[in-house]
Amino acid sequence: MVAILAVQGAFIEHAQALEKLGVEYKYLRNKADITPDIDRLILVGGESTTQRKLLKELDMLEPLKALIERGAPVLATCAGLILLAEKITSGEEPVFGTLPIEVCRNAYGRQLGSFSTVQDIGEVKAFPMRFIRAPFVEKVLSDEVEVLNVTDGRITAVKYKNQLGFAFHPELTEDLRLHQMFLEL
Ligand code: GLN
Repeated sequence: MVAILAVQGAFIEHAQALEKLGVEYKYLRNKADITPDIDRLILVGGESTTQRKLLKELDMLEPLKALIERGAPVLATCAGLILLAEKITSGEEPVFGTLPIEVCRNAYGRQLGSFSTVQDIGEVKAFPMRFIRAPFVEKVLSDEVEVLNVTDGRITAVKYKNQLGFAFHPELTEDLRLHQMFLEL
């Protein structure tokens, strides 16, 4: 069963994408929702500071980190990518810290806060990318991290083992190919 972290942010849009693909899912709103039938996880866009705080307060951080470390496939978008990162450029403490990258928050500044472009994401050709106050990957911290996209000289999509991290929002487009990529992991 796919679980979507639903304490804050753009979880409905991910659920709609899964519905279109005919895939069952559940929302994670508190610790009791983290049941043994969960074998895939989506970490959504929104505000990583708020998500971090709620994960701690609701005591969800450790069980979800354990799920990721056991190898459950993860799709992380935007704030979700920040949650996965092993290092945050601003010096903030990592949240899950399971993905060996350094991530820079709100990397595009105010003017370029939100923009769209069309690029290849690994094998997925011409994907519509939407960035909203997005982070970017400052650097990869392991040779095992596969870079799937570089836009304007900045890494925006990575794959490491079963973790897929995107700085942009595939759930805000009609294109389901990156959700399919996640479901095939
Ligand atoms: N700027 C947000 C953060 O730092 C991420 C933006 C997003 O998820 N759209 O958490």
